[in-house]
Amino acid sequence: MTLINDINDNKNKQKRVITILGSTGSIGIQTLDVLNSLHNEFKIAFLTVNKNIDLLEEQAMLFNPIGVAIRDEDAYYKFKDNTSFKGKILCGEEGIIEAACFDENDLVLSALVGFSGVVPTLNAIKHKKNIALANKETLVSAGSIITKAAKANNVELLAVDSEHSAVLQSIVGESKNSIEKIILTASGGPFRNTAKDQFVNLTVRQALNHPNWSMGSKITIDSATMMNKGFEVIEAYWLFDLGLDKIDVLIHPQSIIHSLVQFVDGSVKAQLGLPDMRIPISYALTYPNRLKYNFPRLDLSEIGNLNFSKPDLVKFPCLGFAYESLRIGGSAPSVVNAANEVAVEAFLKEQIRFVDIAECIESALKSIQIVEDDNIEAIIETDKETRIFTDNYIKHYLTN
Ligand code: MG
Repeated sequence: MTLINDINDNKNKQKRVITILGSTGSIGIQTLDVLNSLHNEFKIAFLTVNKNIDLLEEQAMLFNPIGVAIRDEDAYYKFKDNTSFKGKILCGEEGIIEAACFDENDLVLSALVGFSGVVPTLNAIKHKKNIALANKETLVSAGSIITKAAKANNVELLAVDSEHSAVLQSIVGESKNSIEKIILTASGGPFRNTAKDQFVNLTVRQALNHPNWSMGSKITIDSATMMNKGFEVIEAYWLFDLGLDKIDVLIHPQSIIHSLVQFVDGSVKAQLGLPDMRIPISYALTYPNRLKYNFPRLDLSEIGNLNFSKPDLVKFPCLGFAYESLRIGGSAPSVVNAANEVAVEAFLKEQIRFVDIAECIESALKSIQIVEDDNIEAIIETDKETRIFTDNYIKHYLTN
């Protein structure tokens, strides 16, 4: 009897509609993997990509979304001319925004890379779409605007980031007043044990070799400089609405404890798991519920030891810049973000050295005029200005 009821329940249950911004990136691919086992729960509305149309073709055939959107115009025409996909095909940033705001969306998973995530995410929020946010640069650059818009539109902002998912899982059922601090864990990246004087010689290949997590190249470099952890501090500041003095970073090389929350009575809660992004992704998709998955399970007896230490801000100045930018306030975090994006791209192209990334951010933070962060135009302007500044800085001071 119960089984029949369950089957009828499933039949009658309305599927939730999801759009994935950035479906061919690392998070996008893993989200589709999760959705594959949740096919009774979700209907995919749109998949959006920058220009990876080969993978988009495969995904469109497999998941049969209502439509796709392609940011790059050349890629859009190429796709349109050759595809067997029969649904809607949208083009450019406008197409991405249309997909994000699509009427039937219940949830938009934003896995775009860098600042490009800001405007589509903001538009989705204004159309009252709940957001699963994997694109942390959105909160870094425009945290005040995004969180205010989410509040005004009664929209849920659910972090896909493993650390913030861990914090969320630890504070469910707790009152905000009882939180003393949150402690974001960091693996320390591939250069945790590298001596400072070796940093001038670090190569792209070494920096892309993250010890625990498999991720896209931008975030992997951000992890090597610890800029990623700095961004996560900013992300936590906006998501959990806690003072900066209540957010700590702890080095934990095994990436098993994904973060901790300390309460006013001295109690500490943590969330643990294998470093597999599909777990925080699925939590964001099904929050506040959990669904059964057959992902590999954590076996602490096999892991044996968990280690912890304080972060080294001399070796990893980028983490300090994140705190500094929040203390400065206004558009300062968006300066850090834009300078970092330009510098990481230059490093990946082997135009600058690993240590130059921090130098670019520091000089942008000193040179760009900080403005109020109360409107998106000001943030977009600051972002543009910082990119031009950083490009020039690299040309004049860092390359021959
Ligand atoms: Mg993270």
